[in-house]
Amino acid sequence: MKTTTRVAVIGGGVVGCSVLYHLTKLGWSDVMLIERSELTSGSTWHAAGGFHTLNGDTNMAALQGYTIKLYKELEEITGMSCGLHHVGGVTLAETQERFDMLKAERAKHRFMGLETEIVSPEEIKKIAPVTNVDGIIGGLYDPLDGHLDPSGTTHAYAKAARMGGATIETHCKVIETNQRPDGTWDVVTSKGTIHAEHVVNAGGLWAREVGAMAGVYFPLHPMEHQYIVTDEVPMIAEIIDGGGEHPHVMDPAGESYLRQEGRGLCIGFYEQPCKPWAVDGTPWDFGHELLPDDFDKIEDSIAFAYNRFPALEAAGVKSVIHGPFTFAPDGNPLVGPVPGMRNYWSACAVMAGFSQGGGVGLMLAQWMVEGECERDTFAMDCARFGDWINPGYTRPKVIENYQKRFSIAYPNEELPAARPFRTTPMYDIFDGMGAVWGAQYGMEVPNYFAEGDEPRYETPSFRRSNAFKATAREVKAVRENVGINEVHNFGKYLVKGAGARAWLDRIMAGRVPQPGRLSLTPMLSPKGRLIGDFTISCLSEEEFQLTASYGSQAYHMRWFLQNLDDGVSLENISDTRNGFQIAGPKAREVLQACTRTDISDMRFMDVRRLTVGMADCIVQRVSYTGDLGYEIYCDLPSQRALWDALWNAGQPMGMKPFGMRAMMSLRLDKFFGSWLREFSPDYTAAETGLDRFISFKKPVDFVGRAAAEAEREAGPARQLCAFEVEADDADVVAYEPIWLDGAVVGFCTSGGYSHYAQKSIALGFVPTGKAVEGLAVEIEILGKMYRARLITQPLFDADGARMRG
Ligand SMILES: Cc1cc2nc3c(=O)[nH]c(=O)nc-3n(C[C@H](O)[C@H](O)[C@H](O)COP(=O)(O)OP(=O)(O)OC[C@H]3O[C@@H](n4cnc5c(N)ncnc54)[C@H](O)[C@@H]3O)c2cc1C
Repeated sequence: MKTTTRVAVIGGGVVGCSVLYHLTKLGWSDVMLIERSELTSGSTWHAAGGFHTLNGDTNMAALQGYTIKLYKELEEITGMSCGLHHVGGVTLAETQERFDMLKAERAKHRFMGLETEIVSPEEIKKIAPVTNVDGIIGGLYDPLDGHLDPSGTTHAYAKAARMGGATIETHCKVIETNQRPDGTWDVVTSKGTIHAEHVVNAGGLWAREVGAMAGVYFPLHPMEHQYIVTDEVPMIAEIIDGGGEHPHVMDPAGESYLRQEGRGLCIGFYEQPCKPWAVDGTPWDFGHELLPDDFDKIEDSIAFAYNRFPALEAAGVKSVIHGPFTFAPDGNPLVGPVPGMRNYWSACAVMAGFSQGGGVGLMLAQWMVEGECERDTFAMDCARFGDWINPGYTRPKVIENYQKRFSIAYPNEELPAARPFRTTPMYDIFDGMGAVWGAQYGMEVPNYFAEGDEPRYETPSFRRSNAFKATAREVKAVRENVGINEVHNFGKYLVKGAGARAWLDRIMAGRVPQPGRLSLTPMLSPKGRLIGDFTISCLSEEEFQLTASYGSQAYHMRWFLQNLDDGVSLENISDTRNGFQIAGPKAREVLQACTRTDISDMRFMDVRRLTVGMADCIVQRVSYTGDLGYEIYCDLPSQRALWDALWNAGQPMGMKPFGMRAMMSLRLDKFFGSWLREFSPDYTAAETGLDRFISFKKPVDFVGRAAAEAEREAGPARQLCAFEVEADDADVVAYEPIWLDGAVVGFCTSGGYSHYAQKSIALGFVPTGKAVEGLAVEIEILGKMYRARLITQPLFDADGARMRG
């Protein structure tokens, strides 16, 4: 057996084999896969082998598209068959809401180059005759859907990897992974020790156990899953005899997926009485066996399916496949460099290995070989969860995710499992004031405040929800008087030391401010992609506070630690330093009433230490609302005293609390972008306008400088713009196509309703040459075209007089 390797991939399921193949494809041939049994010995061998592109996350959908298109390439390279059946598939909609969702998906597919199609019940009957279309109002047809042979495909990946120089060691169990002081790994196996520069955990059903060998908790859980294969079904046999194939049918109302298998049918369920499997750990002796049949938990699902697919009822059961596979709390894979670890990579929790495995392998290989991925991978980045995550949270979330696999995913929906979990000292106060809660990165965050007999629940919807009135009320309070909310949804970092300024100058593209001042700056990857959007506060020459998105803490900390300099101390203080934001024309009066220090000379973008009420605070004059405003930070034990001071002082001035819904409406008045909407690794600073914060003058070779300069020279091909949309009851959410002269020329990044201006606003990209004031376009929202006009003048405080005054 080989005893040294550049990469040791642990696990020979479809995912490990895909990672191995993609590493060789990108030029690393000294790579090795270690499998404790035969290839496919986890979830892979008993998969139903179905694949599809449909995914609520656009980047995930694109990677699923990549995976599906890859199979032909694999067959060509290896001469092996993946057993491909590109039969197409239709997802049914039995309610208007679900039809809206499918239409929104179809719209996204337009600029992704996916040829899906909205179909009527009559067309569904023709395409998929096995379906009873009673009660169906339409569907989404995807010609790329299909199924394959799971084992053949995994072996094709393996052969392609071997052809690229990779080695595969089967019947070799990894027992320990021990890191050497230089960051490389000793991978101890049943056949001896392998010295590897990098380790990839692709342990599938055993990913938790493999992770624990390196002291890492992987937030995933196996769930039992069952599908049934029938004997011959005459209608299917007839289609086959006629030279045809029956397409897949996804029936979300019945939580089922159905396809042809041989001359019969195969149907699987995501049943509500689902069961987690191997709660305390996956047994090492589990392998090529199945779980006992369990018809009880799918009894209701089967009854539903008999109505939707009547041919099933008469068909005999040929076999039942009941096996486990793993999920992360949100159902997306866990991929990338594991935060806090050196040379340790994750490729686990891939719940749809045959839809996603190719994309996961490509992204991980790009990350390892080239240092970064070609697109934003946050939806599957293992850094989207923080070190607060544990099995107590993961298990209920995984169960919820399984149960909601076929549910409609609404853009404003807040999922209830494992909540409330993390809260700040303000939780009971805000709860008593009517907070309607959301969760970000495990933390409870008020979305808005219900008053009187308004329900304490926001109705999930693609259209304007019942939060509309409350949001309008909160926006009005901010723009006319003063609003208050917590700053707990900022990620906050303390950077100290003699080397702090030089480090910030190198890692951030923007100017590092002088003591007492703030600056806004993009953080760039070496290839010039946006990996952060920060506010830097200079508290003294050797002490800085950074603020950015709360949900990106592990993502940002990983990058910081990978790139830290000597002489710099870095601390994530997101949960230990908190406070409030006050914003609106009376914000200054409120703050002045709480401190004996004269703040009249505090300029926009100043930062000061002040005692506010009884709390020692860091006060910054800046606000994401675009209004006159202050962010006031203190330590947690002082937070309630700070609240008392600000709230009491604010009452005579009409102060109201406001939540995230109002915040997101207020920022639209100024066209302010938001992290992971307008600003993400999918985009560059020049495309989004953040290049105005890049300091090309500073004599520092900051990360991403060369790429940013090259783009400045050439000019970006597309530009982020704002649009006023003639919408009715639904606003832009994200990824709606922008049409010009009958063609899709761009897409939206986010949008919503500006309650201040009483207009529907969208932000999105169009080709640079087209980005001119007044450009008339159409934006497709939920399948309907709406006229929209490009606008360049902010809707509120266009000259910044109030914000800066
Ligand atoms: C009933 C059922 C139906 C399914 N249908 C579909 C479908 O239609 N379409 C779809 O896309 N997906 C489907 N899936 C899901 C699919 O099976 C998984 O997404 C996929 O198999 C995950 O592959 P993996 O490589 O991550 O993990 P696994 O297949 O679990 O592979 C992990 C491998 O790692 C090895 N390993 C673990 N620990 C060690 C160690 N210490 N040393 C050495 N080797 C180790 C194991 O032996 C195993 O071979 C289905 C799953 C089930 C249960």
